[in-house]
Formats: sequence, structure tokens, C-alpha cells
Amino acid sequence: MYKYIIDAHAHIFPVKIAEKASENIGKFYDLAMNYDGTLETLMKEGDECGVTKYIVQSVATTAEQVTHINDFIANTVAEHSDRLIGFASLNPLMESFDEEIDRVISLGLKGIKLHPDFQKFALDSENAFRIFDAVGEKLPFLVHTGDKRYRYSNPALMAKAAKAFPHARFIAAHFGGWSEWGDAVEYLSKLDNIWIDTSSSLYELSPERAAKLVNRFGDDRVFFGTDYPMWSACDELAYIEKIPLSHETKEKIMWKNINDFLQLGLS
Ligand SMILES: [Zn+2]
Repeated sequence: MYKYIIDAHAHIFPVKIAEKASENIGKFYDLAMNYDGTLETLMKEGDECGVTKYIVQSVATTAEQVTHINDFIANTVAEHSDRLIGFASLNPLMESFDEEIDRVISLGLKGIKLHPDFQKFALDSENAFRIFDAVGEKLPFLVHTGDKRYRYSNPALMAKAAKAFPHARFIAAHFGGWSEWGDAVEYLSKLDNIWIDTSSSLYELSPERAAKLVNRFGDDRVFFGTDYPMWSACDELAYIEKIPLSHETKEKIMWKNINDFLQLGLS
């Protein structure tokens, strides 16, 4: 039905800790976690629905975990280089970033994942700005955005960061603001260096509202993502099918936009 499908937002964990890590995320969001957080399950579920490639990442909640997590992602990607693209993690409490940024680039990782609510830093804080400054235009960011229970990742703060670093590129996950979809449009939809993904949102948005949000941000700026292990590709595709948008627009969302954004070379 689509030429390709790219899941632009998947979390994976080493087998030993996957189930526990997945459970903890479920508790944080008070949502049932349907999958175990391993790469094996991600690909098994994705294969069932025709996913071509996955962007995989993991979040370091302490500075000490950073290199370990980045090695895990890089090694996993190396074993499945035709199917996986890896994003690295940084932690705002690291003393310096330059060495690790150069290292993850040399390992072939293609972006930086940040989760302000898990990592407990605000997107307009000094530590956040240190990261944006150090990474600059070298790699794009995938940023968890939105949680009305906390301030850290609110769309208004994402907008402040995007304006302060106009040459950096930000994917504001979850339509720009999980549980704050209205604010996301207001603060982020007009910014040139903001893209969004569809992950962990469609269960809560009506198909009509989802279509409106896509149109407000522009259909060149939206990437398909599952937020696995929260959801799988089959779950999310079922939601996508119901959105009243043209097949051409959906083809962009499913793979063309992220293919252009990361220059993946699919045609
Ligand atoms: Zn995420």
C-alpha cells in the first residue's frame, strides 16, 4: 500500500533490561505497554505490517549511561544496517559533549534523542542550550515534547530553543507536544526548523483532528513513528488509515519526508 514504511521513533533496550525498562515507561505515562522493548519484537511486529526501516534510540537518564547506550545502539544498528538507523543519547549533566558527539558521528549515528521529562531538564535551561550549542548543525534532534504534568518539554520551551538555535533541526515528537496538542500548533507550527512525528498521539486524537494538525504543520514536516514499545506499527497504521488525508500525503508521512530529512537515499 505504501512504497516503504519508516518508523521514525522506536525505543529499544538490551534484552536483559528490556521488559523492566518498558514497564517503567508504562508507569510514567500510565499507559499499558504492549511490547517488551526488544529489537526482536520491534522487527517482528513491524515485519507483519511491512515496515522497511526503523529509527532506534534509547535515553540515558544519567551521564554515566551515555557511552554505554550509544555503543548498544551503534552495535545493534551495525548488525542490521539495511533496516536500522540509530540516534544517539546525550545527558544534560555530562561535563562536555564534544568528544561523544564526534564519537557517535564516527559510529554512524544520525541524530540525537533527548527526553527532557525523563532526563529532568527544561528545554530552555542552560544545560539544554549547552547541548544545542555543542551539536549545532552536526546532527538533528529528536526531542520528546509535551506533557501537561511537567514543564520540561512543553511546546513553548521547545519554541524558545528552536528560535535560539535557528540552524539546528528539531523533530518535536508526538505532534509537537504530547497531551498539549493545541499548544504545539500555536508555538511550533510556524517555525522553519521544527518537524513533528505522529507517535503516541493517534490513540488520543480524532482522525479529523490529526488531519488538521498535519495540515497546520505542513505535510512535508510530518514523520510516521510508533514510540514502540508503547505501540507497534500495526496499531499505528490502523490509526493512520482512518485519517482523512490523500494517499500522496500519507506516502510523504510514511517515508518520503524522513527519507529527505536524513538523506536515506530511498527512491
Ligand atoms: Zn521517544
